[in-house]
Amino acid sequence: MKLGEVLGQRRALSVLVRSLENGRPAHAYLLHGPESVGKERAARSFAASLLCAERIGSDACGRCRSCERLARGVHADLSVVLPEDQAIARGSRPRVTSRGRRRARSGSRPFAS
Ligand SMILES: [Zn+2]
Repeated sequence: MKLGEVLGQRRALSVLVRSLENGRPAHAYLLHGPESVGKERAARSFAASLLCAERIGSDACGRCRSCERLARGVHADLSVVLPEDQAIARGSRPRVTSRGRRRARSGSRPFAS
């Protein structure tokens, strides 16, 4: 999934693309908006671009080892934390954190909450 393939969200995507082009991405981005407008796709595509070893412009190459790991959902540097109901709907089981709170996971480690 490439940033250039995300439909709509022109303004948000331009911020993300510009950060890639100038080599200075912020430490965090908050994608907020109604459901089903492409926030998750944009976030995953942006993460792929950041982690890609052979990025083409602002898009991940889709072929390097990092891209392959992202595609398989096993990249060590990308974790997605979802609300519990969404994680369960996607087949993940909530886990109990060391503080006893339940937290749903999809992927290996959290990068967003
Ligand atoms: Zn790549």
